[in-house]
Amino acid sequence: MIVVAIDGPAGSGKSSVARAVAAQLGFGFLDTGAAYRALTWWALDRGIDLSDEDAIAALLDAFPYSISLDPVSERVAVGEVDVTAKIRDPLISLAVSAVAQNLRVREWMKDSARRLATTSGFPGVVAEGRDMTTVVFPDSSTRILLTAREEVRIVRRASELAGRDLAETTASVRERDAKDSNIVDFFTAAPGVTVVDSSDINFSDTVSAIVDIVRAESDL
Ligand code: C5P
Repeated sequence: MIVVAIDGPAGSGKSSVARAVAAQLGFGFLDTGAAYRALTWWALDRGIDLSDEDAIAALLDAFPYSISLDPVSERVAVGEVDVTAKIRDPLISLAVSAVAQNLRVREWMKDSARRLATTSGFPGVVAEGRDMTTVVFPDSSTRILLTAREEVRIVRRASELAGRDLAETTASVRERDAKDSNIVDFFTAAPGVTVVDSSDINFSDTVSAIVDIVRAESDL
């Protein structure tokens, strides 16, 4: 089982790039941020205070999370509820970092991601998040840090979120990265991790660059 681990900050394009890399290689695609978002959605839906670490951790015992690893049709569910679109709401983006600071949540997420990857049924999985290269899959054959200059990431994020102005997007991207990087450093590459900077290359060149690295590093 090949695992391609990709980390990067908000707006680096890692989700769409990782999904396209998975599709090209015939691999599964594991968006690990979706689980943090889904847990945040569930906690808010049940009226739980996100800063109550014990209450959030208690949710994990019966968190009915599921995600499809098919790169062409991502589907995320909590129990019977399809939350694929709900977890992209800007309110969730704003709230999710509080849940991601909880160390019991991170432990659960790590086990869950490893289990999803090993039971995926695909010959390989492209896993993206903030701690794939360092904590969840530190031994994988290909580990990539996908970066882009801050102004490029903000413009990309603003164009994804139609209707949001640049100042608002700048504030939310900065705030989320600042909070998230308290827990894991996804701005500097750990030893052995390859940096791909997408600031000055387009989407398909970024995807090709990563596919080439995977092929070279895993004898595909
Ligand atoms: O990647 P995405 O923006 O969907 O991630 C949502 C949030 O989940 C991040 O802002 C971060 O708080 C958390 N996250 C994390 N570790 C990961 C993936 C996501 O802490 N591996």
